[in-house]
Amino acid sequence: AAAPLGSSVIPIVNKLQDIFAQLGSQSTIELPQVAVVGSQSSGKSSVLEALVGRDFLPRGNDICTRRPLLLQLLQTKPSSDGGSDDEWGEFRHHGGKRFYDFSEIRREIEAETNRVVGENKGVSDQQICLKIFSPNVLDITLVDLPGITKVPVGDQPTDIEARIRTMILSYIKNPSCLILAVTPANSDLANSDALQIAGNADPDGHRTIGVITKLDIMDRGTDARNHLLGKTIPLRLGYVGVVNRSQEDILLNRSIKDALIAEEKFFLSRPAYSGLTDRLGVPQLAKKLNQILVQHIKALLPNLKSRISNALFATAKEYESYGDIKETRAGQGALLLNFLTKYCEAYSSTLEGRSKEMSTH
Ligand code: GDP
Ligand code: MG
Repeated sequence: AAAPLGSSVIPIVNKLQDIFAQLGSQSTIELPQVAVVGSQSSGKSSVLEALVGRDFLPRGNDICTRRPLLLQLLQTKPSSDGGSDDEWGEFRHHGGKRFYDFSEIRREIEAETNRVVGENKGVSDQQICLKIFSPNVLDITLVDLPGITKVPVGDQPTDIEARIRTMILSYIKNPSCLILAVTPANSDLANSDALQIAGNADPDGHRTIGVITKLDIMDRGTDARNHLLGKTIPLRLGYVGVVNRSQEDILLNRSIKDALIAEEKFFLSRPAYSGLTDRLGVPQLAKKLNQILVQHIKALLPNLKSRISNALFATAKEYESYGDIKETRAGQGALLLNFLTKYCEAYSSTLEGRSKEMSTH
């Protein structure tokens, strides 16, 4: 499987974070995360899974995601023999144990969910932390969240809706969290829980991407063209429409690869979606996300820079009292930051160049 967009600046930010950690606990930076929000069964887990390119999340027509799943994707070098053992998952609650079988990862998510909240539809805000190592992913942290529901079922408390909303908000109110607001195309956009809660956390829409799922099962005679064009509800960062696997596809074990081919075919076969290729499909969503992430990190850099110079200043002062110093960690940090700023500028101008190129075709 091809990585949607080759490189990313996030590994470098990770390194920077290491340096901040060495400078003292107050100087750590918050990495941008991407969280999916929306009503139950809108297709949130399906979208995340398609972005990762592997099957491993519990999905279905019921409440499947019952605890937040913090999903850290880490890019590894492909193994030289192209073997199948270069992708694996590690759970925080399992230490360093490597899960090579992705259906086993799904079973473990389900089992670990049940361990904390029982088997009867209970919901908890206790995270499950999973790292996925793969040569086919971007370095990004994704958060899969329980969907918004209105009516308590099973062991759920009467205030289930308020609890889930609070849980979702605790993630997406963070200004460095990008929000994928997922709405199924077969429900009214004006009724979207996703857009509503995203609008609460991000009123200016600087970090909300609209995702419209289930384009394949809209009422006959309708299409989502106006939604995708932002004519129904405008969204600063726009919308991407996707077709994920249906429940039947899941039961038949249809692969993500086949699903992506089917998705492309679907869009090509519908005249209503002609001319919208930059807003259609999971690969476009991945691309859009990465562009936004680069911009986002770029915006954080000046702040990091001043924090690092402050730390540098303080450390230098302290060391002065000890006499001559050649190399400090803070000095290395400042150096790396300069390096990073240049890298980010170069990278985003490449991206801008690329998207200009795309739009002229
Ligand atoms: P979540 O509750 O928001 O995480 O939703 P899931 O990803 O678990 O999906 C709920 C159900 O909708 C599953 O049965 C999926 O197969 C189905 N589904 C999700 N996206 C699509 C889509 O684009 N088209 C179709 N036909 N079904 C979808
Ligand atoms: Mg889910």
